[in-house]
Amino acid sequence: MQKKLILDSDLLNITINRLCQQLIENHDDFSDTVIIGMQPRGIHLAEAIHKTLEKNIKQSIPLGYLDATFHRDDFRRRDVPAKASESRIPFIIEGKRVVLVDDVLFTGRTIRAALDALITFGRPSKVELLVLIDRKYNRELPIEADYVGKVVNTIASQRILVELQAQGHKQNKIWLIN
Ligand code: 5GP
Ligand code: MG
Repeated sequence: MQKKLILDSDLLNITINRLCQQLIENHDDFSDTVIIGMQPRGIHLAEAIHKTLEKNIKQSIPLGYLDATFHRDDFRRRDVPAKASESRIPFIIEGKRVVLVDDVLFTGRTIRAALDALITFGRPSKVELLVLIDRKYNRELPIEADYVGKVVNTIASQRILVELQAQGHKQNKIWLIN
């Protein structure tokens, strides 16, 4: 196993701040904006983004968690039963601008499922996608993110390891694992 650092703590903090600034540019006063982190790994990034955003705009933004396990197109094809996490969206998304947050975008199948899962809660006026790492060249569906921390050129056998303080790590870091 080879581990290569692709974003150190300084760069990753700058990246998270930049993603927040881009959201601020596009969301006026955030009065209709809600943030929803994808279970299980997107929720820590969602928490980090949410915290930085609220500090910047000095106002509170609803934060929820979405699990898309049962909406996956490979749900019935897996050998091991998929382990679902909790969806927790204690606010109305009808007519809202939803910012979906996930750590890594790979084939796009999670986000396709997330869009299905999301509409069981209501009909947002708009859904945007924010990801920290875009494994852009491995997509299997026509899905793109609106806000991207970093594009990483990976092959399918590689993995991105995301370590976030929001998850209990000492520092924010991103690694490429071979
Ligand atoms: P996709 O559904 O687009 O193929 O994969 C994206 C989902 O799988 C995300 O929810 C993400 O957490 C996870 N994922 C896919 N590839 C990686 C990776 O290299 N590293 C991490 N940490 N998660 C990944
Ligand atoms: Mg996905």
